[in-house]
Amino acid sequence: MQKNRYKYIIIGGGLSGLTSAFQFKLSNETNVKVLEARNVLGGRVHTKSGIDLGATWLHHDHTSIFSLLEHLKLEKYRQFNSGDSFYTAYSGAPVQTFHADPKEVPSYRIKGGTYALIKSLAEQLMDWIELETVVEKIIGEGDCLIVKTNKGEFKAEQVIVTVPPRLASTIKFQPNLPNNVLEAMQTTHTWFSHAIKVGLTFDAPFWRNQGKSGMVIGAAGELTELYDHSNEEGTVFSLMGFAHENLRDTNPEEQEKKIVDYIAQFLGEEVLDYQEFFIQDWSKEQFITGEIGIHPQRNTAYGNPVFQKSYLNGKLHFSGTETSRVQGGYLEGAVHRGLSLAQELRSTESKSGDGAAGKAH
Ligand SMILES: Cc1cc2nc3c(=O)[nH]c(=O)nc-3n(C[C@H](O)[C@H](O)[C@H](O)COP(=O)(O)OP(=O)(O)OC[C@H]3O[C@@H](n4cnc5c(N)ncnc54)[C@H](O)[C@@H]3O)c2cc1C
Repeated sequence: MQKNRYKYIIIGGGLSGLTSAFQFKLSNETNVKVLEARNVLGGRVHTKSGIDLGATWLHHDHTSIFSLLEHLKLEKYRQFNSGDSFYTAYSGAPVQTFHADPKEVPSYRIKGGTYALIKSLAEQLMDWIELETVVEKIIGEGDCLIVKTNKGEFKAEQVIVTVPPRLASTIKFQPNLPNNVLEAMQTTHTWFSHAIKVGLTFDAPFWRNQGKSGMVIGAAGELTELYDHSNEEGTVFSLMGFAHENLRDTNPEEQEKKIVDYIAQFLGEEVLDYQEFFIQDWSKEQFITGEIGIHPQRNTAYGNPVFQKSYLNGKLHFSGTETSRVQGGYLEGAVHRGLSLAQELRSTESKSGDGAAGKAH
């Protein structure tokens, strides 16, 4: 085997890239490399002190991810929502108290945090992963693609780009991609790249002890949403939510004070005794949003047909949640697209007499 030459190169070690790699492994393909720009895997999945600062919830129709969790022997549990919740419609409006409808279809969380899924996939793929490897250019040449990175050149017969399309439009392609593809890339909003997530940890769930759910919803204050984020075992107690985007340019000390004071209005002064405070603004993440920034129109019509086709002589493929025709934007979209594209590529290969495709579900 030629040095740095692979059958498949996957660009991006987020959920989509790792599920494709996992699917290749299940189908006994071993000639795979995953190039990830950051020094950690997971992309928009990021769990710190038990708090999901990226993706959290799964819904009943997220069937590919449920199967994957089962396969990896990971568990899910229901989002806690019992007790008094609060809603403020607009600034100055009276606060309404409500209770979650027990008949409502529940949201689920992954036991150990969403990163448990990334960790479990990565443990099986470690030899294939190259961290801190930033892809800058992809060149079609002869029977392969050359992938140029900050750490030198890699070659592959097939390349899967899982970088969110808007950011992927800043990678150079040679020959150039068709204009309609580039335009679709540039105008596809990177799901939740505008979000500012907030988390606080406590030594006790004081809100639960007062009959409150921890849920605070409304567009009038410093947070638009807040939820109980304690773990299922009852050993880590936390609140997690989304900050209002008008806090984006406020300095960190002021952000923290405003947010804590806001929560105290609903859950009481005990909130001031928090142990840790986290805030993550995804619009400032170099390898999610990047300098290209958030698209002003936030177009979320995901699964554009141009991303279902291949380019550079059939060797370049687009993946990632925004390219998924099923549950695009969600974790489910990332898994669905990641698995189905790898299966598709393997079955094309086996039809041409090489390799065997297996399924993760
Ligand atoms: C705040 C927030 C909350 C969310 N909440 C939910 C939720 O509750 N439920 C849900 O279902 N979904 C949620 N999502 C969406 C979910 O996180 C995504 O659908 C999913 O993680 C996308 O995975 P992906 O692999 O497609 O992309 P990403 O996770 O974006 O992975 C892309 C990877 O490519 C890497 N990369 C970028 N540029 C380069 C380069 N040039 N070279 C090499 N590597 C590169 C990145 O570092 C990253 O690791 C949320 C997202 C955010 C940000």
